[in-house]
Amino acid sequence: MSDRAALMDLMAPIRGRVVAASALQVVYAVSALVPFVCVAELARELLAPGPPDGARVWTIAAVAIGGLLVRFLAFGAAGAIMHFADADLQLHLRRRMAAHLARVPLGWFTDRNSGQVKKAVQDDVREMHHLVAHALLDLLAAVVTPLAALAYLLTVDWRLTLVTLLPVPLFAVAFAVMMRGFGDQMSRWAEANERINAAVVEFVRGIAVIKTFGQTQRSYRRFAEAVDDFADFFGAWVRPMLRLSGLSMALISPPTMLLVVLAGGALFVSQGWLAAPDVLPFALVGVGLTAPFLTLDMGSMRLRRAAESAGKVAALLDSPVLPEPEEPVAPEGSRVEFRGVGFSYDGETQVLREIDLVMEPGMVTALVGPSGSGKSTLAKLLPRFHDVTEGAVLIGGQDVRAIGSDRLYRHVGFVFQEVQLLRAPVAANIALGRPGAGTEEIERAARAAQIHDRILALPRGYDSVIGEDAHLSGGEAQRVSIARALLADAPILVLDEATAFADPESESAIQDALSTLIAGRTLLVIAHRLSTITGADQILVLDGGAVGERGVHADLLAQDGPYARQWAAYARASERDWTHDEEVVR
Ligand code: ADP
Repeated sequence: MSDRAALMDLMAPIRGRVVAASALQVVYAVSALVPFVCVAELARELLAPGPPDGARVWTIAAVAIGGLLVRFLAFGAAGAIMHFADADLQLHLRRRMAAHLARVPLGWFTDRNSGQVKKAVQDDVREMHHLVAHALLDLLAAVVTPLAALAYLLTVDWRLTLVTLLPVPLFAVAFAVMMRGFGDQMSRWAEANERINAAVVEFVRGIAVIKTFGQTQRSYRRFAEAVDDFADFFGAWVRPMLRLSGLSMALISPPTMLLVVLAGGALFVSQGWLAAPDVLPFALVGVGLTAPFLTLDMGSMRLRRAAESAGKVAALLDSPVLPEPEEPVAPEGSRVEFRGVGFSYDGETQVLREIDLVMEPGMVTALVGPSGSGKSTLAKLLPRFHDVTEGAVLIGGQDVRAIGSDRLYRHVGFVFQEVQLLRAPVAANIALGRPGAGTEEIERAARAAQIHDRILALPRGYDSVIGEDAHLSGGEAQRVSIARALLADAPILVLDEATAFADPESESAIQDALSTLIAGRTLLVIAHRLSTITGADQILVLDGGAVGERGVHADLLAQDGPYARQWAAYARASERDWTHDEEVVR
């Protein structure tokens, strides 16, 4: 769908009101002209030879006042209707996005996509607001008023009207010359801008390193060069354009128009083609004829930007959702099985292939393997962050796709590295795991997760709002998410063990919290520290998305394969420094 079509489509719910407001705006735009026309008509009446017609003079005065009144009423009504319609549209769009986002796969929420959501919900919807609430009506008035003026002037004298319009073709030529190659230049402009941004980001991100190694001068130079390049390019592009732009704007500016009208009028009157008072309407109304050319440009830019934003919102609303089963089934027990599972993010690169795995209830299964071997991807298929592209994941004998997400999350809990806390009270964040949980249960979970005391130390205890008066460290946030998982009490748990040492300060607290959490559950753990999984019931060594080796620690060591080598490397590193293992050093 093109951006324009997307815009029309998204605005469909308020189409009726947009039409009504536009009609009112047309009334406004025409009535805005009425007082000027009346003044001109009054002058023609009074200056005409012979005594003025009193009744006609009064009628003109009454029409002028009426015009003024209608103008204000129509303007207010059109604006009000559009603003209400706009507020409804924004609410409607944000609700639609929220409803849609609730149905996309959890795995969709990568950093990039989350940024896109923020941009769509805030910036893009706001861009559409500018269009709906302001630009559309402005644009309409900018076009209708001069058209009405043109119609009126044609009734006065069509020949002088044509003369009045003389500057327009000249303007068109100058403008066309100015816009030559605009598209190319715009993309060059965007590129140059991007280079500056990149240079700034590089400079700021690396500031500590740059300073430490005394590279400030060099690094700064790169930034300065990017800015100089940009300035050169921009100057070369814009300078001649500004000259032309000044010229074209001057051509249709009110003084030029007045000059043309008066010169033309003088000629017409001296030749006896027109009575002198008849020049007055042109002087009063004609000078504004070209005004839309000044505003149209900006209005069309707004329209383009709004259409672009609409395209992004539409794309977001179009992102594939996770199909929910029509008649959800209930898993029997919590035995987990991966049957011939294959997965690809993009439909091309195979990230996982032929994964067979059985996890009996209460069993601990560890995933190890080099970075990028597919551990996280495999683990995330169980809580259905994505759907498999081949094979099936089963819980209690049922395909996870047939279970329905509500029930699935009662069976599978997860604690991953990227902790998600909501801007809500701490208690509510923990209770996400089980809506409706009582204060006592929440506190019990927090205590078991070793975070209760820390929460009590917050300004408002459990009522403190994350991000407002509750500022938690990474490790503390992780313990809140562990409390959440504890409260949810799902029999199956997927865990990224890196969680345990993301924050050295609270490492032992997190370890303790985790041991409480995993007790008695069926556990799938992404292992980083081999020492913690020596007791696992089964270890899967992933290699390029396939299971390279599997077994218990002792057997794997005896096989003397990749696991044994990884273990040896790990043991050597641990001797040097127990916090170092392959993943950390990476
Ligand atoms: P590991 O957890 O073992 O480090 P991952 O499961 O994170 O491995 O990654 C496996 C492969 O899938 C890598 O090649 C990675 O680049 C790719 N990958 C991971 N996440 C995504 C994603 N959201 N979109 C596309 N590719 C991804």
